[in-house]
Order: sequence, then structure tokens, then C-alpha cells
Amino acid sequence: MSSSASVAPSAEVISRYEPVIGLEVHVQLSTATKIFCGCPTSFGAPPNTNVCPVCLGHPGALPVLNRAAVELAILGALSLNCQVRAHSRFARKNYFYPDLPKGYQISQYDEPLAEHGFVDIVVDGAARRIGVTRVHMEDDAGKSVHDGFKDSDRYSYVDLNRSGTPLIEIVSEPDMRSSEEAYAYLTEMKQVLQFMEVSTCDMEKGHLRCDANVSVRLKGAEKFGTKAEVKNLNSFRFLKQALDFEIVRQIALIESGGRVVQETRLYNPDLDETFTMRSKEDAHDYRYFPEPDLVPLRIGDEWLAEVRAAMPELPSRKRARFVELGLREYDAEVLTQTRAASEYFEVAAGVSGDAKTTANWVMGDLMGTLKGEGKEIGDSPVRPEHLGELVKLIAAGELSGKLAKEIFPKMFATGDAPTVIIEREGLKQISDSGALEKIIADVIAGNPKQVEQYKGGKTTVINFLVGQAMKATRGQANVTVVTELFKQKLG
Ligand code: ADP
Ligand code: ZN
Ligand code: MG
Repeated sequence: MSSSASVAPSAEVISRYEPVIGLEVHVQLSTATKIFCGCPTSFGAPPNTNVCPVCLGHPGALPVLNRAAVELAILGALSLNCQVRAHSRFARKNYFYPDLPKGYQISQYDEPLAEHGFVDIVVDGAARRIGVTRVHMEDDAGKSVHDGFKDSDRYSYVDLNRSGTPLIEIVSEPDMRSSEEAYAYLTEMKQVLQFMEVSTCDMEKGHLRCDANVSVRLKGAEKFGTKAEVKNLNSFRFLKQALDFEIVRQIALIESGGRVVQETRLYNPDLDETFTMRSKEDAHDYRYFPEPDLVPLRIGDEWLAEVRAAMPELPSRKRARFVELGLREYDAEVLTQTRAASEYFEVAAGVSGDAKTTANWVMGDLMGTLKGEGKEIGDSPVRPEHLGELVKLIAAGELSGKLAKEIFPKMFATGDAPTVIIEREGLKQISDSGALEKIIADVIAGNPKQVEQYKGGKTTVINFLVGQAMKATRGQANVTVVTELFKQKLG
């Protein structure tokens, strides 16, 4: 492994340097079909079955741009606060890969879809705005699969199902100053794109891939140092670890009199270190030129307005609104992880009129039960209106918290409204003092010792007596009424 031999720098030395980081993120758009042909984008099909002459790269086959892919790309760009260009253009980026049969990728170069955006992050309480240089569209390559263990039994296969899958590449400004900031930037970006349903951002399926560019400079220096690019960071943890390793490697190299060379490196999570993959190519190595098989992409004001009009509220706005409704920051965060969760909560809270209690039920009983059954909130058997009703019944004193906990699993199992279950199972709360008198009298008669203690001044014993009455009514008695009645009877 190259150049990891230099002496590890001390914390004091490290603290004299400042890392500079820029990320290039590839995100797979959630379209049903590919970007330039009608083949499905579905994951997990048998190899080389979702293919046609276009995505197999046969000579003479012509690409046709998928309108749905453009709309998702625009939505993604707008969500990252970018300006969408009225005129953009596809370009050929030429290179040879065994899983790239065309011999070029159709990307965008000097006229990308969108520019000048930003992502806001908060790290250690400090708010920072990270610039998004550009968002451009491109097609994905196929996949090489390497198999076999011995040299004599080693094969590589090519699966072109992924070839032609629509991607956006999101390039950041070199605005991040620590691995924590890079982590926060990627987290925020993933959340927004997931929320807006631009992409599932499923990292395990490769729907979100990140390359990190990193350099170091002495604090106070104006010029950036030479950067290295670390590719294939397929998890948040690896992004952070790779950056932390790379920052120290570059500092050690400079401190020992060496120079950082511009190159592409790979991260090895088993060794927790990066190593040289290849020297970095420059843009001119790709021989970019305008794609002759596609007309320029024009996005008029009308089209842009249409996409904007259909755009849901951004999760950051929703989060702020939920906090205003009385939720804790953390709860607002959890409830805006997905659009489905936030919409479920809003409907339920609208019915119950009690945002805080509704949030507790959604995040507790509902999400817990869903998780146990391996279900998403979108498939919840409990409708949000019904959960809202349940919370409303508790708030109105018609249902004890304990009874509600009993009713909820029945709602989950049957999909019925709480009122229907209460009626069917006779679970209504008993608040009528006439009906409770007899039970109270029985409890008093059956527990002379505790009654004696209460009368002797040990008033906390009332909790025990109330508990007995609740037990006798299978939790259906109204606790407030029962407590009141005991106080009356015992003087
Ligand atoms: P290249 O031409 O090598 O692709 P770009 O200027 O296009 O470089 O930038 C690619 C990415 O690297 C961007 O995310 C950018 O913010 C980041 N970057 C550029 N210069 C530096 C630097 N000196 N240190 C860290 N990141 C950088
Ligand atoms: Zn195809
Ligand atoms: Mg570049």
C-alpha cells in the first residue's frame, strides 16, 4: 500500500491543518424504465434480461430521452435549491469499461441540467451552508461480477440490466471542512431526495454512491492543497472513516516532506485505509463532445412551473412546522424521515387535535408494531384517521391510556376504527359513578387494613385501592372518577 509508511502525526500537528472536502454523489432516479429506452429498471432480475439494443449499446440504436427521468431530475435539483437551466445538453464521455458496451457514457458536461444550489447542515450546533455546484443527468453502466477463488477458476461476468439506468450526479463545492460535515451533508441530501421520492437512496442496492475529494492545507492558508479522490464509498460510516484516514495520510505525507499527488484512491474497510487505484484523469481525457443522437434539452417556464406546483413541502420546512405544533426536535426529525410518515402524522394529528400525543403514538406503538411485522407505514393496517380518533378519545377522557393500549393491537389486526372495537368488545370506559359505587364498596370491604392506614393519615394508600378497582373493571374504570369516589367514601 502506498505511502502509509510515514510517521503518524501528533494531534498537535494535525490541528495545524484544515481539511477541504467536496463530494460527488450519484443517485439513481426512481423511474420505472431506463433513461434512453423502455427497459425496466427493476432490481434483482436474472442477468441480462432487462435489456434491448439501446442499452446493450448496439451500433445504430438510437436513444430517446425518458420524460419521467427529466422530471425527477428537475425535482431533485429544485429540492437542492438549484437553478434549472432553460437549455441543457447531453454530452458523450468516452471511456472503455467492459460493462460499458457503447464505449461512452451519455452525461452532461458544459451545459448541465441545474447549478448554484445549496444544502444546509448543522454540525456541533453550528449551521453551515454547503454549495451545490451542479446537478446533471447521465446513464449508468452495467455491472461486472467477479467470481471464483483460484487463478485457474476465476471468471468475470457482465450484467447489463443496470446499463441505461437514469442517474443524477450532484457535485458539491469544496465547502466542507471535516468528515463530520461531509457526513451531515450526505445525510441531509439523502433525506431530502428520499422524502421527495426522487430516489430510494438505498445504498445497499447502489442507488446512492459517493466519491469524496479531499485535500489539506495549513490553517489560514488561502490556496487549496492538491486533492485526492476516494471512490466507492458505499456507506456513511465508510465515507467518514475513509476521510479521516485520508486527512491524516495527507498531513503525514506533507509533514515528512512529500507531496500529495492528484489521484483516484479506493477505501478498504477491512484495513481501514485508502490505496491508489489510478492516476486521476483530466476532463480532456474523456474527449467530451455534444451527444449527436439527442436534441438539446429545453425546459421552459411552463414545464418548470408544473414540476414546482406538484412539489411537496420540503422536509426541512415540515420539520420546522412540526416543532411549532409542539413536537420535540427529535420527534419532528423522525416524523419527516419519509413523506409517508409525515403525511400519516399530519392526518392523524388533524383528527386528534393533539399533535404531541399523536406523535408519541405514531413513533411508539404504530412504528414499533410495523417494524415487528416488517411493514412500511404506507402499508399500515391502522388508518391515520383511526389513530387520530383513538388519541381524541383519550384526550376527551372517554378512554384510559391503558384501554387504548389494549385497543390499538386490535385496530392493527383488523383495520377497524377504535369506536367499532370498543362497541364490539364492550370496552367502553366506565365513568358513571352509579356503576362504580358497588365496585368501590367491594374494594373497601375487602381491604380493611389499607382503609385503616388511609384513615390514619397514610393517604398514598389510595393508589393501592384505586388499583384494585381498576383491576376489578379490567382497566375500564375512569381513574379520575374512581379516585374521587374513594376520597368521598373514606372522608
Ligand atoms: P476534477 O476536474 O478533478 O473533476 P472538479 O473541480 O470538477 O475536479 O471538482 C470535483 C470535486 O472535487 C468537487 O466536488 C469539488 O468541490 C472538489 N474539489 C475541487 N478541488 C478540491 C480541493 N482542492 N480539495 C478538495 N476538494 C476539491
Ligand atoms: Zn433497453
Ligand atoms: Mg470534474
